[in-house]
Amino acid sequence: MTKPLVAVLSGAGISTDSGIPDYRGPQGLWRRDPEAEKLVTYDYYMGDPEIRRRSWQMRRANRTLSAEPNAAHRAVVELERSGVPVRVITQNVDGLHQLAGLSARKVIELHGTARSFVCTGCHARGPMEEALARLDAGEDDPPCRKCGAILKSATVMFGQRLDPVVLGEALAIAKACQVFIAVGTSLRVQPAAGLAGVAADHGARLVIVNAEPTPYDERANEVIREPIGTALPQLLRRLSLGSD
Ligand code: ZN
Repeated sequence: MTKPLVAVLSGAGISTDSGIPDYRGPQGLWRRDPEAEKLVTYDYYMGDPEIRRRSWQMRRANRTLSAEPNAAHRAVVELERSGVPVRVITQNVDGLHQLAGLSARKVIELHGTARSFVCTGCHARGPMEEALARLDAGEDDPPCRKCGAILKSATVMFGQRLDPVVLGEALAIAKACQVFIAVGTSLRVQPAAGLAGVAADHGARLVIVNAEPTPYDERANEVIREPIGTALPQLLRRLSLGSD
């Protein structure tokens, strides 16, 4: 029996058990605070050194880099280790799927990663710890060491387009999978949300695991409202046993 390809689209809700709040969702912290939103909005960031200084201070203060994967992240790894082909498409920038043990090539990061920095001039990248160490050493807006241009976190800021290559990979997975599980996402932000519709259009079984209703609930084969930390492991165990 050929095991079905399982696609997992994860949003902020999968990481709340790891202590990471929803920052960028429609009801996220940044969206509710215009001053905070500026710190992660591309034009403000590029145009105002004071915004950059505050943005770096925010990265230094926030706990994303020290967060640990939780039971839901680990359950995805266990599903993969049981022999089921798994691909993760994530709206999160915390890198917790990989930290839980999923290989990087199986994780599509729609909004980039907060674990790296990138140069806005020459596109050089490096670990975020390296940029934060420069803050600790007294720099408040560290420029690129190669070309001198502005550095930023390797996340997709508000006002930036998603990487078309990354988006293309996500679409291909949505079309090819037999099961599409949307977990911890409001399915209200495009284009990520549309992936659920694409998967359903192409015949995938659509499962939604989210505390709140989503616009795709009516199209779903199964909607689960229980807490993600217990519901996702149960659901994925069912899939790994082939009983679903
Ligand atoms: Zn550079």
